[in-house]
Amino acid sequence: MNLAKEVFEKLPQPNQSEYTTIIHCYGLNGMGTQAIELYYKMPIEFRDEGIYISVLNACSHSGLVQEARSIFQTIQKKTEKIYSTMIDCLSRASLFEEAQKLIDEYDQDHLPSIVMYTALLSGARKFKNTKLSQNVFDRMEKLFPRMTSVLTSAAVLLANTYASAGDMDKASEIRNKLNKSGQKKQMGITSTVVNGISYEFRAYDRSHPRSKEIYAECEKLSAELLQHGHKYDSSWITRPIDPDETVESVLSTHSEKLAIAWNFVVNPGASSIQLNKNLRICDDCHRATKLIAAIRKCEIIARDANRIHHFTTDGKCSCNDYF
Ligand SMILES: [Zn+2]
Ligand SMILES: [Zn+2]
Repeated sequence: MNLAKEVFEKLPQPNQSEYTTIIHCYGLNGMGTQAIELYYKMPIEFRDEGIYISVLNACSHSGLVQEARSIFQTIQKKTEKIYSTMIDCLSRASLFEEAQKLIDEYDQDHLPSIVMYTALLSGARKFKNTKLSQNVFDRMEKLFPRMTSVLTSAAVLLANTYASAGDMDKASEIRNKLNKSGQKKQMGITSTVVNGISYEFRAYDRSHPRSKEIYAECEKLSAELLQHGHKYDSSWITRPIDPDETVESVLSTHSEKLAIAWNFVVNPGASSIQLNKNLRICDDCHRATKLIAAIRKCEIIARDANRIHHFTTDGKCSCNDYF
């Protein structure tokens, strides 16, 4: 990021796409304030859909709702993507009524957009709001009956919301229905490059030949986490727990944590780790990774489905916990 910033600052007259790129980068790295500053500094004639989306996204990922509102209001031609980004921003901040109002406003003279409903559903999941989740999901089923793959992901989100709110019965009811209809949830996979070789991990994965060492490292990490005040949050367990498992044993072997452990098995004194996760990182892994970065004095950079998280050795993440 610093390099990108340096390169950008040396450009005598950045063009539109260079502005879009750097604002987008600021957004990905949780630098919302810088993104907004640049947005107001750049030539007004450069403002187009791409710029609006980048700057609104940057606000969204840094929790700068008021700033996003002000920018959104000034946009003359609001496209579907611009609306969706704003709805995502409001939903992440739990401003569901306002988000719903925007959806209604858009639906008045457009065909309804499934992306907007999905943003609302993700926000409801984050805040464990089962009532809203169920309402949004029902509406999605009615409005988009043929969009099976999106509806499947939506159903998984709904089940996870019930599970995180403690209603395991309702969660498994939805999952059973999904299994019967043959729709499978996408598996979470974290990949990491260690000493030039790429490795992939799934949750509870024991397929690695050095799995024993990895699990021993996970236990060590887990003990350190607990010592430093980490509380495992059972609401992020989205499947039934077997009798020989505990909340800790399930959460401490999520794919992200296995990948981190593998790095420390190979390089016990690692000072930097890079991860790639195909889905969104879970809240428990996010909190744990912040602590691990601080305890082990090791920078961890994790790209997930939404953004890049830069966990620094002071125990913070660049996303400011907006993800
Ligand atoms: Zn996790
Ligand atoms: Zn983060």
